[in-house]
Parts: sequence; structure tokens; C-alpha cells
Amino acid sequence: MQRSKGPVHLRGSMKVRVPSSQWHAQYSSSELSWLVGVVMDAASELLIQFDGAIGPFVRLEDLKLTGGLDAGDYIIIESEMVRWGKQERIIACTIRRTIARLPQETPGVSMVAQVLPHPVTVATCRVAATAPDVATKGQGEPAPLIICAAPTGHEVTRQDHPNVPITPEEIAAEVARCAVEGATVVHLHVRNEQGSPTHDPDVFAKAVRQIRQRCDVIIQVSTEGDSNMDVETRCAGLRVPGVDMGSVATGTVNQHDHIYFNSRPIMERVGQVIQEHNLAAAVEVMDLGFIENAKTMARKGLLKLPTHFTLIMGTRGGMGARSSFLDVAVDQIPRGSTWSVAGIGRHQLPMAEQALALGGHVRVGFENGLIVSGGTKAQGNAALVAAVADMARQRNRKIATISEARSILGLEQKR
Ligand SMILES: [Zn+2]
Repeated sequence: MQRSKGPVHLRGSMKVRVPSSQWHAQYSSSELSWLVGVVMDAASELLIQFDGAIGPFVRLEDLKLTGGLDAGDYIIIESEMVRWGKQERIIACTIRRTIARLPQETPGVSMVAQVLPHPVTVATCRVAATAPDVATKGQGEPAPLIICAAPTGHEVTRQDHPNVPITPEEIAAEVARCAVEGATVVHLHVRNEQGSPTHDPDVFAKAVRQIRQRCDVIIQVSTEGDSNMDVETRCAGLRVPGVDMGSVATGTVNQHDHIYFNSRPIMERVGQVIQEHNLAAAVEVMDLGFIENAKTMARKGLLKLPTHFTLIMGTRGGMGARSSFLDVAVDQIPRGSTWSVAGIGRHQLPMAEQALALGGHVRVGFENGLIVSGGTKAQGNAALVAAVADMARQRNRKIATISEARSILGLEQKR
């Protein structure tokens, strides 16, 4: 289901008063049917906001009654889209009592009630509905999925995983394996002979050449660097022949115990070098303010729009790996731009699933995290790419060919 315009709604809430005409005893059949009706109204509202239409309801499940209600009480029904795919929508609903009617009477006062300091959960349930037909809504299919492999990064070590590709040869071989599984972009970091991150242009050039010999992928070089590294060093990879894209992090954020430092002069210089070398930018977003900085750069002519945004979610100190953040971030991305999600650590594949469902693209690899499923480490980067490709196939989302990926990212003219 593509939602290229407007905000994506994954949560809703609705307040209603328990009517005395409908409420006589605690949860007899008429009370239950009233409650179910209210839940369906809340679920319907969320479905309309999510899809613009309501498919047929399939079932109501896991209904748990955990507290009582009385006529005259006020309740809030909070709804959350917890699963959405090509076929089905699952909405979790929580009903909380926010105002309780009190039995005593006061002369001249029509009702005595108490606003509860903490709303009390009185019921929870899940509602399943069929997804409305994509065709009848007049919405097109989402763009084919671009899978970007990030095989090395600059932090993961051989101690973390014996198969982290380090040398240009190893990186190129790993990228080729990822390409077989459906990756069309590589987010490239390189290491020196000791295995430490480097921006040595010779190492970048060697990696680019070797990747080009083995497979056809879009090469996006990283400009990530420590706070004490000068910006020209960080830009070294952008100057290497054969590169298509360059990353630019448009903000500063805490990362573990250090600061990932990208002052305005640094990000603007990176943006300038990307343009000087006629590369496409991949704006790295680790917090919502990064998107605002990118828009400022665009106004100053230091970033061409539309462009691609990589939403990095789940770092310690950055934007959390939560659907609500994704919702806001996608809404704020400049119109016409493309976006992908890189979920960090254990969030890698769950966030990939959410990106897929919203019509976005995905970045996976050991740079993000090592876990493939059930807490087990992936054998290699290709297994992570394959896991995302499987998710896409389950959703009937087409995986982009290299020429489709070039077209989606506006790179056709480059080759
Ligand atoms: Zn990176």
C-alpha cells in the first residue's frame, strides 16, 4: 500500500460517554454489543485515516475485560495499527475509563463525577479487517523496493562477527553476494589493514574498482567521521571515480558515549563536495531536526531536492525505532524525495518491515546490526538482504532491478 502523500496514521483515539440508555448491568450482552460497536467505530476511524477506506471486518479477538464501567462514565478508545500488509489490517484497541460517575447526589448538580488522575484500562482487544483493494482506491503500487547493503560500517569488528568484510576484496565479494539476493545499492565504508575505519582515497578506489568488477550496484560512499577528523578527510571517498552517491549526516547526535559531530559548516561542506562531483546525496537522518537542517541546506543551494533520505532509527541517543517517529519523519521529508529506513541492532528487520509497509526502501547490513531472526546472528550480510527480500515477496512488493533503482534515485544520467 503506497502512501506517498500526507501523514501516515498508525494511532488514533476517540472519546465517548457511556450512555445510560445502553448501560444497565456490567457487561451483559447489550453492554458488550455497545462496547464492541464503539471499538469498531474507533477502528474504522483509524482505517479511514490509514487507507482512506475500510475493508470488511474479519474478527474481533483477544477481548479482555479488566474493569467495570457505569452509565455516565467517559471512556477513551485508543487504537493502534499493529500489523498491516497487502491482505490484512490488525488494530489493537485499549479502552480506558477517564471520568467516573459518582453515585451520590448533590442538590442542584445534575451529575457528580470524578476525573480519574490515571485512566483505568477496562478492556483490550484486537480488530482484524481486510485491506481495501488497492485498485479500487485508485492508488498505484509502491515503487519497487531498493535494498541498500551496508556491509562494514565503521564500528563492527571481527570480534563481533568473524565474517565482517574488512579488505576491499572481502567487501567487494560480500557486495556481490548481497546483489545476488536483491541489493542494488551499497553504503560503503572502508577499513585500513588493521581493520580500523579509514577515509584513505586509495582504499576507497580499490574497493570501488573491485565492486565494479564483480557486480552492478549503485555505490554510495560514507562521509561519517570522528569529531576530531577534518571535513576534507571525511570527503575523500566522494572524490573517487566510479562513485554514484555520497552520504551526508545533517545534524549532531549523541552516539553511545561520544558525539557524532556534524556542525552546519561540516554538513554544508559535505553537501558542496557532493555537488561538485555530480553525485546524488543520501541524507542521513538520526533525529528529526536533521530533516530541518537538510531543508535549510536545500534553500542555500547546498543540497538538491528531491533527494534520498536514510532514516537511521534505534541508535542510543538518536531517534527511537518506533512507528510514531517513522510516521513523523516520513511526513516531514520533502515531497518527491525517496527514503529508506536503517533500523539499528535488534530493530533492523522490524523497522525494515515497517518501511516496506509504508512504501519506503530499506538499508540492511552488519553496519546496522548482526541479528537476522530469533536472536541469531546472520551468517553474512547477504542473509540480511535475503530476509528483507523475503519480506517484500510476502507483501507482493517488487524488488527493484538495478535500472529501476537508478531511475527511482534519479541516477539514470550517470551511466
Ligand atoms: Zn555508514
